[in-house]
Amino acid sequence: MSNPQATTRLLQGIEDPRVREAFEKVDRARFVPDDLRSKAWADHPLPIEDEATISQPSLVAKMTEWTEIGPGHRVLEIGTGSGYQTAILAELADEVATVEYSSILGNSARQRLGELGYDNIQFRIGDGAQGWPEHAPYERILSTVAFADTPTVLLDQLRSEEGLALVPVGPPGGVQRLTLYRRDGDRILEEELTPVRFLSLR
Ligand code: SAH
Repeated sequence: MSNPQATTRLLQGIEDPRVREAFEKVDRARFVPDDLRSKAWADHPLPIEDEATISQPSLVAKMTEWTEIGPGHRVLEIGTGSGYQTAILAELADEVATVEYSSILGNSARQRLGELGYDNIQFRIGDGAQGWPEHAPYERILSTVAFADTPTVLLDQLRSEEGLALVPVGPPGGVQRLTLYRRDGDRILEEELTPVRFLSLR
């Protein structure tokens, strides 16, 4: 169970009841380093292992809502990090496949999410720029690591009917555009949602 006062504040503007429920269920304090637990529910990114950061909780909630995840969906996540966003996705989807470049982070997320009882997540240590073709197609793709250009490889792994991908796109170290791609057959509709700052692909 998470922090009720903090979640009420962080969930302002989130309307999807399933997203609210998933967000309330996952305790962010379990995903931050021990010495930062008192700050787990502040609305900031926090440093985790291996020079990565766990995203700001209100943005995690918003990105989850934008991705419109439903039962029956298989979701690909790029940038496992602490596994916090992964846990929220796993509450909503049938299956989550998540790819992390850092073996330190990937292995500790696998252990943590196993301890929390999730059995619908598959983990891969590797380069998320390649997606995870063996499990494609995905109804949904969500990246919490920034791509420099249109993530064509990921879009090819989206389900061709009503596939949705949410990806930060922009220069390393700069401000990126959080971009929502809707795939309808061979057509891709692109919508820029908000400026963000994510770590870029290693
Ligand atoms: N969603 C995470 C935060 C991710 S931060 C959370 O909730 O904690 C971005 C992550 O992307 C980092 O863990 C970083 O190691 C990872 N990353 C960087 N380059 C990558 C690549 N090429 N493939 C997969 N993951 C990558």
